Amino acid sequence: MINRKPFGEGLAVEQLLELDACTQCGECLTYCPVQDVTGNPLISPLEKIRMFKEFLKATKGLKARLFGAKVDPKLLEDFLKAIYECTTCGACGENCTVGIFTQRLWPMLRKEMVRRGLGPLGIQADLPKAMGKTGNPYDKPAEERYRTWFPEDVIIAEKAEIAYYAGCTGAYEAQPMVRGDVLVLRGIGEPFTMLPPEEEVCCGFPLFITGQHDMLQDLVRRLVNAYKARGVKVLLCSCPCCVNIMARDWPIFYGQELPFKIRHVTQFVADALKSGQWKIKRPLKERLIYHDPCYLSRGVGIIEEPRTVLRSIPGVELLEFERHGLNTRCCGAGGAARKVFHENAIAMGRLTIDEAVEKGADRLILSCPACYVKMNEAMQGHDRQIVITDIMELLGSLI
Ligand code: SF4
Ligand code: SF4
Repeated sequence: MINRKPFGEGLAVEQLLELDACTQCGECLTYCPVQDVTGNPLISPLEKIRMFKEFLKATKGLKARLFGAKVDPKLLEDFLKAIYECTTCGACGENCTVGIFTQRLWPMLRKEMVRRGLGPLGIQADLPKAMGKTGNPYDKPAEERYRTWFPEDVIIAEKAEIAYYAGCTGAYEAQPMVRGDVLVLRGIGEPFTMLPPEEEVCCGFPLFITGQHDMLQDLVRRLVNAYKARGVKVLLCSCPCCVNIMARDWPIFYGQELPFKIRHVTQFVADALKSGQWKIKRPLKERLIYHDPCYLSRGVGIIEEPRTVLRSIPGVELLEFERHGLNTRCCGAGGAARKVFHENAIAMGRLTIDEAVEKGADRLILSCPACYVKMNEAMQGHDRQIVITDIMELLGSLI
């Protein structure tokens, strides 16, 4: 049964203006990684916008008022698939001729689908239940959150100005990354605190990105108040999605400015290297190529710091992908699409692996737990092989 309430009522004015602003020029078409691997034009930004505008017209226009709202069910079905198949990488927005902020617009259109009882897709609908039960999207026991990777001899302060948030994907699925974070923090030598595993609940990003916003305020307030009680002034994290929602959206869900700063761990490491507080002593005679995570580069503008850190390793030669920095190509794992559209994600990951091999890199360096998981999966059974290492895993191994 189709919900005939007007579309767009849950959108902010900015998003309604953006929908209106799209000129259908097609400039963004070249940049979409999902179109690259599926060849499906419906996923394209302009098609998504065109379809949503049809829904606005059908449920809000004069005709709708006079004769009743009629939404084409096939169009709705196509839109639903397109909006959730998109990785929300934001490459289209970066190249949009009228500056539409698509990395924000798509999640908000997903929220509209949830509001109408149409989204999310597949196992994404299980997220709120898992979060309510275990505090993480993987439905894993909280007591196992740090168990398998936390170095035994690292001391966590009860209270400190610096706190480290591991994040769910790092803690449960990309342990070499978070272990590297902690080893490097110990190497830098500043005392840092962490929440007990049952208190370090999800940052909220998976709920936000799938359009399921109901629990977000509660999660954010619990986390912010817990860090505040520990006297935290700087919260460090290495997952780009966590850093993105913390910096951009936590203040909104918290209802005011956060009582601490949010920093990506490479920013902290780059500062420690610049000030001489820390030095990478062991050399690495390798050609490294660094993949910018979409939510770190386009999302919060952290582009130079990971490169500063990598260039500080004696012996390293740093290569670049054709598309890097603000123009980076999505690894395929973004937007909570990696488990629902697995084949797309593998195909996108392999484009990055292939380019890294073609450029002659010895090692592909990542800085995101979702990239780490999906790229490793993409490598399995692929005819081209390269060593994949998280940036913090690498630094941790050079201490
Ligand atoms: S956000 Fe990325 S995946 Fe989604 S339409 Fe834009 S370029 Fe394509
Ligand atoms: S580049 Fe921007 S204005 Fe042009 S079609 Fe794409 S989204 Fe619309």
